[in-house]
Amino acid sequence: MHEFAVLDELKVGGLTLRGITRGGVETCLMVPELGVMFDVGMCPPGALKFDTILVSHGHADHLGGVGYLVSQRQLMRAPPPAIHVPQEVHEPLTRILRGWAEIEGFDLQWQLHGHAPGERFSLGGGLARGCAAHCLRTTHRVPSLGWIVERTTSRLKPEYVGLPGPEIAALRRSGADVLDAHTEPLICVTGDTQIEFFQQHELVRRCRVLVHEVTSWTAERDVAQTRRWGHTHLDELVAESERFTGEALVLVHRSMRHSRAEAERLARERFPAGVRDRVVVFGN
Ligand SMILES: [Zn+2]
Repeated sequence: MHEFAVLDELKVGGLTLRGITRGGVETCLMVPELGVMFDVGMCPPGALKFDTILVSHGHADHLGGVGYLVSQRQLMRAPPPAIHVPQEVHEPLTRILRGWAEIEGFDLQWQLHGHAPGERFSLGGGLARGCAAHCLRTTHRVPSLGWIVERTTSRLKPEYVGLPGPEIAALRRSGADVLDAHTEPLICVTGDTQIEFFQQHELVRRCRVLVHEVTSWTAERDVAQTRRWGHTHLDELVAESERFTGEALVLVHRSMRHSRAEAERLARERFPAGVRDRVVVFGN
C-alpha cells in the first residue's frame, strides 16, 4: 500500500485488519469478519458501518471520533452504535455526547456500556456468531482496557473422534453428550499499554492475532521515557517476544518519528528467529 494512504490493510489468521494507527495521532482498527471496530480516534473511511466499538481508553486519539460517528450514523438512519468503554469513561462520555446532541439540536441515540476489567459479553449473532468480547486491565496513564475476542465452537469429544457419522448420530439420539465447547482467543488489541499487559496474561500471549502497541522504536526515546508515558518500547517487547505462541504479532501505534520502512527493518533485525516470521508492522 502507498506510504501516504490513510488506511492500511492486513489479512492474518483468517481476519482482515483495516485501519489507521499512529501513535498520539489517531487509532481506529476495523475487523470486518467480526463486525467489530477497536477505538475511534477519528472516523476514517468505512468506520460508520460498524455497529460495535470496543474502546481501550479515553485519550482523544483513541476516542475523539465518537461524537461524529454517533451523529453521522443517525443521519444515515443506522442503528445506535454499541460503544463499550472502561467504566471510568462512561459518565464523562455520556456528558460529552449529551452536550453534542444539544449543540447539534438532534435527539442523538447511542448505546454506551461501561466495563470493569475481567468482564465478558456476547457479540451476538451475525458476523460474530459464537464470539464474545472480554476485557483486561492494561497499564497506561488513564484507566484502560485491552480487548480480546474469543470464539466458542463445538467439537467432538476425543473419545468419539473417528467414529462414523451414523454412529455419532445414534449416540446423540440416545442422549449422549458427544460435544465439547472449545474457546479460542482470536484477537487481542492492547490499546495503549506498558509491557506489563503482555507479561501478566498468558491468554494475551496465545491469541491467534495479537495487536500490540509499540510506540517507541529506538534510543531516541528510551525505555524509561516510554514507560513514563504509559507505552511500550521495542526493546521490551523483543525481550519478551518468545513467550508469544499465536500466529501473528502485529505491531501498531508507532510514533510518527519512525517511518514504516525503519520499523520493518528494526523488526527484522531485532526479533529472535523463532518469532521474526510472525511479526508484522501495521499502519501507514
Ligand atoms: Zn493513550
